[in-house]
Amino acid sequence: MASDPSRGETAERLRHLLETEGEIVRPRASEDNARREAAYDELADLETLRTEARAIKEEAIERLPELIQTVRTAVEENGGTVYVADDAADANAYVADVVDVAEADGRSDHDRPSVVKSKSMTTEEIDLNDALEREGVDVYETDLGEWVIQVADESPSHIVGPAMHLSRERIAELLREEFDPDVEFETAADLTAFARDYLGERIREADVGITGANFVVADSGTITLVTNEGNARKCAVTPDTHVAVAGIEKLIPSMEDLEPFVNLIARSATGQPISQYVTMLTPPTPSPTLEFDGPDADEPITASDGESDREFHLVLLDNGRTAMREDDQLRETLYCIRCGACSNACVNFQSVGGHGFGGETYSGGIATGWEAGLHGQDAAAEFNDLCTGCTRCVDACPVEIDIPWINTVVRDRINRGKDPGTYDFLVDGLTPDAESGSGVPLDKRFFGNVGTVAKLASATAPLSNWLAGTGPVRALLERTIGIDRRRDLPVFQRQSLVDWFEANGGAEASRRRARVGTALEREAVLYPDVYTNYVDVARGKATVRTLEALGVPVSVPSLPESGRAALSQGMIATADRRASELYGELAADIDAGRDVVVIEPSDLAAFRREYERLLPEASFERLRSNSYEICEYVYGLLENGADVGALSTADGDEPIAYHSHCQQRTLDLEAPTTAVLERCGYTPETTGSECCGMAGSFGYKREYYDVSVDAGEQLAEELEGSERVVASGTSCSDQLETLLERPVPHPIEVLGPDR
Ligand code: SF4
Repeated sequence: MASDPSRGETAERLRHLLETEGEIVRPRASEDNARREAAYDELADLETLRTEARAIKEEAIERLPELIQTVRTAVEENGGTVYVADDAADANAYVADVVDVAEADGRSDHDRPSVVKSKSMTTEEIDLNDALEREGVDVYETDLGEWVIQVADESPSHIVGPAMHLSRERIAELLREEFDPDVEFETAADLTAFARDYLGERIREADVGITGANFVVADSGTITLVTNEGNARKCAVTPDTHVAVAGIEKLIPSMEDLEPFVNLIARSATGQPISQYVTMLTPPTPSPTLEFDGPDADEPITASDGESDREFHLVLLDNGRTAMREDDQLRETLYCIRCGACSNACVNFQSVGGHGFGGETYSGGIATGWEAGLHGQDAAAEFNDLCTGCTRCVDACPVEIDIPWINTVVRDRINRGKDPGTYDFLVDGLTPDAESGSGVPLDKRFFGNVGTVAKLASATAPLSNWLAGTGPVRALLERTIGIDRRRDLPVFQRQSLVDWFEANGGAEASRRRARVGTALEREAVLYPDVYTNYVDVARGKATVRTLEALGVPVSVPSLPESGRAALSQGMIATADRRASELYGELAADIDAGRDVVVIEPSDLAAFRREYERLLPEASFERLRSNSYEICEYVYGLLENGADVGALSTADGDEPIAYHSHCQQRTLDLEAPTTAVLERCGYTPETTGSECCGMAGSFGYKREYYDVSVDAGEQLAEELEGSERVVASGTSCSDQLETLLERPVPHPIEVLGPDR
């Protein structure tokens, strides 16, 4: 696939996937996601386990060269062989040699050597099947999904569920075409029974069984296989030769390190407390070779005497992993245990599946890290922008990988690999960011500098709004910076929030208006994010009224952009600069004991998450611990004695549907809003959709408009029956207002007192 297709081509390809694979993937991925959430909820020590698992991975990758030596010693002492393959060709050649030798000594009577395989993304990564087939080897996948994919001659669309994009009917059709069976495939059970018989025979006859490994215990040479079908253990113990192919990152120091992973992996992948089979083999396994055709065919399993004449080869694959380990930003990818939870939690993955949101081998949010690390960053260029940084995968990942950050870093690197554009001088003149001459595309610099654009549009409103709505301008915007002409544009307000606040007397007047004397003794500085300041001014005004009514004087200074928009475009240098500028401006307020109140959840997420990577530790900590999402802040005020009667309250059980912003949920800030709504007499119903699909600039872009609307429609469907709907993010409100065709205000606009 081309690495930089036109917007139109990308839009067309994604539209096709939406209509074909997405229809099937969405319910399956969402169900797995819901099951994962339920399984996590049941685990009292979830966070301890995640932290423990993360720490083990960090240590293992840190000690990787030493662990490779340790496992070599252990496997060789056990009677097996370890081969560290530099790359795909090296690994494939080694495995082909092993098959060659095994076939020469084999017990099968077929003409060509045969191999059975269990599911392994690592062997997908190196195209092992193709390599062996070129050598004249018959290769049979034995995992049901992988086998279907092999029959269909397709690539996996999900790390855990490779055939997730295929319907049962399509699978039945594929198998009928391939095998012309005597039986009818009417149910899933018919299909699996056929597969079991067919593959069982292949396993019994195979010369070599190839498995992957979920974990490799270095000090004992133990291979752990986590499956639901039991085929992996059959592949490992039935043929006389077993080859396990695993990335070097699968090594963990010792058996006791396995525990948190066994507790987490099935929960995160499928929501099961534990998978059907957790097989721990220390090969060459002393488990008996099955003799189905021998004299004891009625009792093929005989007691083992502990001896084994079986062969075992552990192929440890590097293929770029050592370089990833040395790359401070990509290193974290190596902690991945390939559970697929980040895919299931991702609204865009749910819409287009892994053939849209994925690269040569890996799919979903973490695919960017894997593909960029293993195949080069161009391999991630085509799908990297499908990560909107919504962060819903962050809660899902059992090893706490900051997947959105990896996507941001790779986006930044991809941007910088391009030649400076023709219009760069224009952007440089209008908005001096930190990307000049770096090759960042014009559209990204436009969206990444949205504060400058908004300021200009506000200063010239309503003319700017009228002009932006005209056909020729929409066409120009679509052609130059890719804003889809079907998307409603924001309506900029002539009077910004900051100007309104100043026109109403500024901080001094606020102090007078606030009911000082309620003993709360708090003061707040309201962060006027770009959208609140220039577009959704009403929610800013409602916030000021609310805080003053609760006795908190406010100031609304003119402040720099947070850098959130720049980050979303992969403009890290600009975000870094903006973070420092903003912190510099806010430091005096924090020193003076003022609380920083934020309305837009994505800006608060920048303060509490991304700034950790951009600011000195002490500055980050000060800002993080002194900033609050508006409803979180109101909740705190009410808990500390503020008068709820000062707010706009309802009769006691007025229903209200509430969609909280994705990043707000990642920050665990949905609950304070629902609590405040309840205190004010509402009965809030929260939505289940992970994200509205708008995600800042994402929903404006021509290539992603349909994907964005697809996600939005799922959310809108949830809310259709609700009379009153509120949403905490600007993007969420914009998307919902378009789809529901009615106003969707911020909760603070409902709670704030009229004045
Ligand atoms: S990044 Fe995390 S959630 Fe995604 S596949 Fe890897 S371990 Fe699972």
